[in-house]
Amino acid sequence: MSKEKIAMVGTPCGIMAASKIQHYNDSPIYFKIGLFCMENFSYLYFTKLLKELDLTMDDIEKFRIEKGYAFFNLKNGDQVKISLSKAKTVVRKNCNICVELTSETSDISVGSIGSENGWSTVIVRTDKGEKIIKDAIKYKYIKAKELTPSQLKLLERIASNKKKANHENIEEREAKARPVLYQRDKTDKNIMEEISESNFDDLRANVINVGACVLCGACEYVCPEELILIKNTKPRKKRKECPPDCHNCFAVCPRTFTPVNLRNDLNKSIGDYKKILTVKSLKHNKGQDGVVVTTILDYLITKGIVNQALIVDKKEDLSWKPYAKLTKDIDEIVKASGTKYSVCPVFKPLKQLKEDVI
Ligand SMILES: Cc1cc2nc3c(=O)[nH]c(=O)nc-3n(C[C@H](O)[C@H](O)[C@H](O)COP(=O)(O)OP(=O)(O)OC[C@H]3O[C@@H](n4cnc5c(N)ncnc54)[C@H](O)[C@@H]3O)c2cc1C
Ligand code: SF4
Ligand code: SF4
Ligand code: SF4
Repeated sequence: MSKEKIAMVGTPCGIMAASKIQHYNDSPIYFKIGLFCMENFSYLYFTKLLKELDLTMDDIEKFRIEKGYAFFNLKNGDQVKISLSKAKTVVRKNCNICVELTSETSDISVGSIGSENGWSTVIVRTDKGEKIIKDAIKYKYIKAKELTPSQLKLLERIASNKKKANHENIEEREAKARPVLYQRDKTDKNIMEEISESNFDDLRANVINVGACVLCGACEYVCPEELILIKNTKPRKKRKECPPDCHNCFAVCPRTFTPVNLRNDLNKSIGDYKKILTVKSLKHNKGQDGVVVTTILDYLITKGIVNQALIVDKKEDLSWKPYAKLTKDIDEIVKASGTKYSVCPVFKPLKQLKEDVI
């Protein structure tokens, strides 16, 4: 058993990787806060897009995507917007085959869709999630209201539209190229047979080289031989043979076969859940929406429920470039609030917990 108890925050693909790590191995991740995520952007191409508007990443105070537009709140107080269709020209290719909006395998999922400004929609999915939200309300970290039927309907409609549209993209892609593995309808026994014959070469052929890699860093984290390295673009492997009995990277990748209990049901637009609330922080006021993620992480650390949080902050020397960090410092958690609309290998900091590496 892992000695660490970590709360992580991640997009649905990162949460799926965490769920697969938990499914196949002992994992230090104790609590998963999943974000809603419609799409994510290439940092490089987004920077180029801003250049067309005479802007740099440095000029931006906050990004926000809402009602068909990407809004940029500038540090000088101005606001610039572009149509979402324009912004979508720099979406990462892997996001076009992503069939979940709401982090269906998390303990709680948090997003803005369905809530009024300054509040976050929270989908409570597990017993653990339910207790933590209940206690965070009791200790006055957050306040919560029921989502109205029309707010819920909106969320379900948007989630369902994402699933449908990207499923069509999958069908289109599969008609021309390799199958999109994580959507294969296989039994767990068949999946284990596939895994037992697969290693990094299969991950490269089926995920990385076909534009399906979400750059989560799970493969790098679970490699017992430290053969995988992610610098900026994609996972690469050192020129050294893998041990014949190792299949870890292929097993945990969120874009290879999904075990039955973690698979997205296309007929359930937001997955299984216990309750849905609209929530606002009573402790913090600087964040993306209701500052709920920051506040729940504060609650979990302060109450000793977890001993570290795995978060995504921005680099000091490269504006809005995300990087993952493991911390128990509430100030660092508060500093990392707000949404960075590009990816980084979120599991990278777990490498430092050597004793927990599989
Ligand atoms: C790429 C992306 C796309 C999103 N798309 C949608 C959407 O379409 N609809 C919607 O309703 N919500 C979306 N969200 C979620 C939304 O932007 C807020 O993160 C969410 O509502 C929580 O707000 P908050 O105020 O509670 O969070 P805060 O208290 O501000 O905390 C935000 C937390 O998110 C983490 N974080 C920031 N960027 C990343 C990242 N790139 N990867 C992993 N973790 C990160 C930080 O570590 C921080 O702890 C998206 C988030 C991301 C990262
Ligand atoms: S693949 Fe893209 S759209 Fe899907 S959860 Fe990950 S970042 Fe979001
Ligand atoms: S040693 Fe295992 S985890 Fe590492 S690259 Fe090879 S198969 Fe993947
Ligand atoms: S190849 Fe590695 S980094 Fe890419 S999605 Fe799979 S596990 Fe994540």
